[in-house]
Amino acid sequence: MTQYDFGGFDPTFFGVSLNFSNLGAARLFDRWRKTQVPLPIADLPVDDRFEALSLFSVLAHEVRHFHDALLAPYGAMVFHRRIQMLVNLLELSTYLFDDHLNPNVNCLPVPLERWWRLTESQRTQWIAGLPPRADGTPWQPMNVPLFNDRTTPLMSGPRPRTLESLDELLHAVSRARAQISDLTFNPQTVRGTASFQPWQVFELSGLFVQFQELWQMYGPEEVQFFGDYIMRERTPYATALFVAGKLCGAVGLEFNWGFLSIVAGWCLLGSYKRDGWNACPSVRFARLTELLAEDGVDLEQPIERLFAHWSQRLRVSTIEEAVTETRALYSRIPSQLEAKVASVKNSFVAKEYAELLIRTTADVARASAAMADAFLHAPETYLVPYSYNRASDQFVNPSLRFIFESLGADMDATPEELEQRGWIVRWALQRDGRTVVLSYIQPLELSPLKFVAPEDAAHLSDLFGLTEFVFSELGHERSDVQRAGRVFFHEAQIEPIQVF
Ligand SMILES: [Zn+2]
Repeated sequence: MTQYDFGGFDPTFFGVSLNFSNLGAARLFDRWRKTQVPLPIADLPVDDRFEALSLFSVLAHEVRHFHDALLAPYGAMVFHRRIQMLVNLLELSTYLFDDHLNPNVNCLPVPLERWWRLTESQRTQWIAGLPPRADGTPWQPMNVPLFNDRTTPLMSGPRPRTLESLDELLHAVSRARAQISDLTFNPQTVRGTASFQPWQVFELSGLFVQFQELWQMYGPEEVQFFGDYIMRERTPYATALFVAGKLCGAVGLEFNWGFLSIVAGWCLLGSYKRDGWNACPSVRFARLTELLAEDGVDLEQPIERLFAHWSQRLRVSTIEEAVTETRALYSRIPSQLEAKVASVKNSFVAKEYAELLIRTTADVARASAAMADAFLHAPETYLVPYSYNRASDQFVNPSLRFIFESLGADMDATPEELEQRGWIVRWALQRDGRTVVLSYIQPLELSPLKFVAPEDAAHLSDLFGLTEFVFSELGHERSDVQRAGRVFFHEAQIEPIQVF
């Protein structure tokens, strides 16, 4: 089966994640990375040709997402909320193991948010519908208060473990999650059945860099083929490209990805602090489209002047303000953790995770600062795909993670041997005496600017995965999320039960 999308914008891993659902594609990717010479593709069947083009350019696309998330306030805000969810959820997990509150607990209903909102009788019914336990004991789920809609104070300081304080934690996690939803889905940019959302602006930014990469590798014909295929097969990028094409049309331009990349850059870099929801990338895109239809555009102008003009005409923040805000937002996270978490005695998070979380978020903040410096020094280098693809040594180096959905990759070496090659094997199992790897990190050497240790990135990603597993309805089924959750609870001898 053809795989269209090997990346998938997943900011839970600080780096680049590639997902493979078939081993053939993984091998082809490996071959391409080793040779760095464009492999012949013109004679391949249509679907295979598209798959090959996707594979050879996916890295450029995903690295762009990584960089954009470090520059855009949107990226910093989502990251901040994820950390909030995580910290509260880790604290919440100690309630599960509290002998006083949960003396005989043997199962955890997930996603917890769904369970929390069930009534007493719905919960009883649920438990009654479960198959009997292997050891003959009755199902004993974690003790969770019944949901009531109220505002609770944000957590500060330690408190005794009671159902009341558990309720506060649940509200805190839920609120952080709702704030992520507000950022990722903006009802302002929905018209009838058509919806244009921030992730699509991020995708445009990634796609134009990818087009450029393909253009360098194969020339215009393959870029045309690639773009046509996306539109014809209605892949997830089709709407975004359609909307981008309309913007070009509005100013009387042919589809021009160099110009559109600049547009996407401006749209991603809005300051929420100054503009509120007008900073949302898809709102900026819609408003800029209207402005350009009125004013037209002079492509001879330097980018800085165009940007200043757009910000001034629309009365919104400048990209400089946004990038400065991003840097400040990221840098606040480790200090907040330090103040709120590490100083609290008897906190589970403080004992087990504070060090990792503070170290990693501080490294992420340094990475954002380095990106801000590089960007502000020469915005054009970043925004023009041609120069960006040639300047990767000036931007932050990501870790490169491979994920094999369900099937795993059969390796010719043991995990120890793989680690000697510099890989970090995250998830692996033995099958018929061979090592089957489900997820690993390989060294990537794009630039000397390295901040987050790959082990820390992987560890944090597992914790985010655990958060999704326990709490979220969205993303719950993803294999990396399931793995992180199931392993954690298996070790704790708690059985997660899925609430539908
Ligand atoms: Zn993407």
